Amino acid sequence: DELRGEVSGNKGSRQVPGYCYSRVAPTPVRAPHLLAWSEELGEFLGLARPTPRGAAVAMLAGNILTPSMKPFAARYGGHQFGNWAGQLGDGRAISLGQVAAVDGSRWEIQLKGAGPTPYSRRADGRAVLRSSLREFLCSEAMHYLGVPTTRALSLVETGDKVVRDMFYNGNAAPEPGAIVARVAPTFIRFGNFQIMTANGELDNLRALADYTIRHHYPELGDPSPEVYLRWFAEIARRTAVMVAHWMTVGFVHGVMNTDNMSILGLTIDYGPYGWLEPYDPDWTPNTTDFGSRRYAFGQQPRIAMWNLMALAQALSPLVADPQALRPSLDIYADTLATTQHELLLRKLGLTPLTPAKDLALTEALPPALAETQVDMTIFFRQLSHLAPALLAAASDEDALFSELLAQAAYAVAPGTAAVLLDWLHRYALRLRQEPASPEAVRNGMLRANPKYVMRNYLAQRAIEAAETGDLSLLEALFEVLKTPFDEHPAHDELAAKRPDWARDKPGSATLSCSS
Ligand code: AMP
Ligand code: MG
Ligand code: MG
Repeated sequence: DELRGEVSGNKGSRQVPGYCYSRVAPTPVRAPHLLAWSEELGEFLGLARPTPRGAAVAMLAGNILTPSMKPFAARYGGHQFGNWAGQLGDGRAISLGQVAAVDGSRWEIQLKGAGPTPYSRRADGRAVLRSSLREFLCSEAMHYLGVPTTRALSLVETGDKVVRDMFYNGNAAPEPGAIVARVAPTFIRFGNFQIMTANGELDNLRALADYTIRHHYPELGDPSPEVYLRWFAEIARRTAVMVAHWMTVGFVHGVMNTDNMSILGLTIDYGPYGWLEPYDPDWTPNTTDFGSRRYAFGQQPRIAMWNLMALAQALSPLVADPQALRPSLDIYADTLATTQHELLLRKLGLTPLTPAKDLALTEALPPALAETQVDMTIFFRQLSHLAPALLAAASDEDALFSELLAQAAYAVAPGTAAVLLDWLHRYALRLRQEPASPEAVRNGMLRANPKYVMRNYLAQRAIEAAETGDLSLLEALFEVLKTPFDEHPAHDELAAKRPDWARDKPGSATLSCSS
């Protein structure tokens, strides 16, 4: 109510100048039933697990609205692949409103795939089961890895069929439709501000900035030109922390358009994302991006900076001197470097000792990983197990390292392992300066290096099973991804290196934007 909303109903796709959002109701679906539920998030929000086809599931599918819900779709714009795209907006996501969690904090619940809105352009407002299952599992997996992210509460199959991507199965056959209820303090993006400035709607720009600061950055104080600057610095800092996490867990977002950048520094919009398997900075899962590789793994730090510059431009009418926004870009770069360094030190079981030398060591690792194209998840996990032997110094390091590479590498091209082996010897020397006991070092590393991540080919297998009504793999994956640092002996296969057959299989390694 603090922002200007259009009270329109469902009148078809259109430009919505002058408004921050449109009130729009979800379009009912035929036969919703629950496929997955995030128990812990539900408890936090004070919501009990729904019965599979009950009234609560009908709400999570948009079929039932309560009087307290005020559903809306947000208006935003954005740069897509570096080009200004004008109005985009929530084309298939509809927010139901906010709920109070048990600790009093407020959380927005948004249904993704809930039907058309004024922002649907020529698309149908729906989502398919495969992309919804991917969003559900990955947002929760990221949360449990400690990566800032939006959450997912439920995955509901709608009972309707949706035609999506002819390149997925070759013949544009209808696929099962689904809806994810996703949860965040707010889903406001860089693009919500950009559209206002681009259209010269400075009243809306200011109102939206003030709303965001008052509700989501209250620690900054009452909005003022000075506070806008500090706010932008904080957005830059949070964005850096998020990207540092991506770079150290091997997450590739895949579509870092400015409309997919959360104003809270949360990972948002799980579409054609992927997990790095062979460590390759040039890898992207997004087939739509195969030409320019703009959103490849190694580009993410640079692109987040580009996106922050676009946001700075959008916020510039709010401050007296736009140049005063610049230092925040340095905050971004510094925070990214220090956070990545800290996260890597933890993964390596090292406590800060000799700053310059430690930095040289962590900075030399990514190029060494890239040279050998090892699986970073397996590499760090196995390194954790090796720590006690390395600390004991008596062991045959060469043999240990060859074994490590055999486990973690996909196919080692002759000669490419030398850089990584050199690095490992340097690391072993440094590790021996750690004062903690070998067990403490190993245990610390096992808490920093997950055994389980959302491997692309496993998600695809879970999808194919779920499409035939078999939820066992979805459930097993969800189970291990909730405690990714623990061993799950019954599910060792869910930590396995990507098999060869999955390398180029659509869905198992690569996806298109429409995913
Ligand atoms: P994305 O590439 O997922 O960030 O989406 C870009 C824009 O397309 C956003 O405005 C989405 O809301 C919109 N969009 C994506 N898929 C659909 C769909 N099936 N129906 C309506 N709008 C969509
Ligand atoms: Mg998006
Ligand atoms: Mg998307």
